[in-house]
Amino acid sequence: MGSENSDNRNSPFNFGGPGVPGGPKRPDPKKWNGWRFSLTYVVILIIGMAVFNYVFVNKVQNLIDYSAFKQKITAGEIKKVELSDSYFTGYAEKESAPGSADPRPPRLFNFNQQDSHAKVWRTVPINDPELIKLMDEKNIDYFAVSREGSAVLNFILSWVLPIAFFMLIWRFVSRRMGSFGGNVLSIGQNKAVIVAEGDVKTRFADVAGVDEAKEELVEVVNFLKTPQKYVDIGGKIPRGVLLVGPPGTGKTLLARAVAGEAGVTFFRMSGADFVEMFVGVGAARVRDLFKQARSKDRCIIFIDELDAIGKSRVNNIGGGNDEREQTLNQLLVEMDGFDPSSGLIILAATNRPDVLDPALLRPGRFDRQVLVDKPDLHGREAILKIHSKGVKLNSEVDLSSVARSTSGFAGADLANIVNEAALLAVRAGRRLVAQIDFSEALEKIVAGLQKKTRVLKPEERKLTAYHEAGHAIVAAFTANSDPVQKISIIPRGFALGYTLQMPVEDRYTVTQSDLLGKIDIFLGGRIAEEMVSGQFSTGAANDLTKATDIARKMITDYGMSERFRNVALTTRGGSYLGGETSKQDPVFTREYSEATQQYIDDEIARIIESQYKKVETLLTEKRKLLDRVSSVLLENETIDEKEFKLLLAEEL
Ligand code: ADP
Ligand code: MG
Ligand code: ZN
Repeated sequence: MGSENSDNRNSPFNFGGPGVPGGPKRPDPKKWNGWRFSLTYVVILIIGMAVFNYVFVNKVQNLIDYSAFKQKITAGEIKKVELSDSYFTGYAEKESAPGSADPRPPRLFNFNQQDSHAKVWRTVPINDPELIKLMDEKNIDYFAVSREGSAVLNFILSWVLPIAFFMLIWRFVSRRMGSFGGNVLSIGQNKAVIVAEGDVKTRFADVAGVDEAKEELVEVVNFLKTPQKYVDIGGKIPRGVLLVGPPGTGKTLLARAVAGEAGVTFFRMSGADFVEMFVGVGAARVRDLFKQARSKDRCIIFIDELDAIGKSRVNNIGGGNDEREQTLNQLLVEMDGFDPSSGLIILAATNRPDVLDPALLRPGRFDRQVLVDKPDLHGREAILKIHSKGVKLNSEVDLSSVARSTSGFAGADLANIVNEAALLAVRAGRRLVAQIDFSEALEKIVAGLQKKTRVLKPEERKLTAYHEAGHAIVAAFTANSDPVQKISIIPRGFALGYTLQMPVEDRYTVTQSDLLGKIDIFLGGRIAEEMVSGQFSTGAANDLTKATDIARKMITDYGMSERFRNVALTTRGGSYLGGETSKQDPVFTREYSEATQQYIDDEIARIIESQYKKVETLLTEKRKLLDRVSSVLLENETIDEKEFKLLLAEEL
């Protein structure tokens, strides 16, 4: 990259901005030398033409009327006449034509004509048979200039040169316009962005740490291998599978592995490739892509970064993006229009499933969603092993310790660490990669990562473990709460960890005690943190907001306070914009006095305080369990439903 830039800066012909990715390639520096040559060539040509012109103009000097020319012959002033297609030229002397001894001189480069102006006359020919007779009478020498020479010359001058000249200019200009010109000229053409890969080498063995995702995709491979088996039994083959997960976790890799395992053609396109400057291009590309895919027996279409086209139209009220919408619509149409038993399956990847258009996610389209999450401890070790396969490691290298210190890293980050370590070893002059290279690589990459993802310090990690364990244990001992499905201290975006509760059934109404139980669970994280560190941290801010919110709604919306039992203090109003994806609340308006506001504030504080006391008692009682769950979390980073139940049973 650096070298390319400096090359262009040194070149006198640094015209283009940076090339558009996927657009025509920038000319390489070698070609520029060729162009400099052509430029000189053009300049020489122009000078040459000027010389031609000068000679031409010269020839036309002393132009006289035909009658005057005839007069001069009659009067004997002209002794010799040269007849050519364009002019009759008369000379005053018989023997020595000016500037040359040759009686039929090549006039082209005769620059001496100026000297003999008085003795040369020219006229435009007229078809006049009398002239020859007149010249015979007067005994004048006359001759015709060979037509061929001048005809060829004329042809070159009037046709070949201008055409060549304009072609040169055209080439030059179109080079100068660079990628923009290219784009304008290739609207609707698919500039080989659709890459069909026939023989994909990637296998599931190349992907690690995402076992659940792999399990689900194995089924897709089976669909592709033997679609008939599923059709015979009457099952519906999924059309689309959406891989969802943070960047760098191996979504693209998995899609490729599915194609490799099934041995089918792999069409890969990025969502951004569809979206172009011109409305309709994206839609044309989608059509093209499906057309090509349908011509294959069995294949996978993989649309990477689906969110680039699949953004929800719901929130675009007034003024959406026409091009994107057309592209999306075309995709929806195409997805409905093919028969899944034909062995065509669409995979897509995104790290922003929340912005996707609901139409994409409905059954019959991307109805299967596979979560590709950041790997846990064992997963990270496995990924490190995969990527260090080709790297020569010294025997003391302990990949599991590297894995332990890379909590929150995605697969791509881990691949990067192995590579970085190898580079550092080379720099240090080692022939084998040592543990110290890994620790240095880690430091280097962590510094860069800290901007993107959170990398937890050990004490932060411990607090997070207690925090999540607190949520989980309170949930376990709260009657009628949703069972804990997963506890994790793998950082995700802004969250340091998370506790996942899965409702057993849909609930449309909740009781007062359910709501208090929810508040308890939210408070559990903070209380556990306080118990172990003796102070408050900011890690629970989000929990507190949610707990407070519930308490407020209990008073204002649900009529669950002492003073306003059965009174709703807010009215729903405003318009309810947004579809299923919108998490916005309806607009509430306040309909109560300042005194009531005061009461509400006090009441919220009272509810939270009393629940806080209750949870604190509970967790103090369960301190041993809390310590146990936290230490398991610190060790394994995740605890699933089954493991959590075992831990609970252990203590009881
Ligand atoms: P995504 O598409 O999810 O952003 P990629 O699939 O492009 O991530 O991953 C980039 C690279 O990181 C891969 O080519 C691979 O080398 C490495 N990688 C990522 N995840 C994994 C994984 N789970 N197992 C092995 N390698 C991985
Ligand atoms: Mg990707
Ligand atoms: Zn929390």
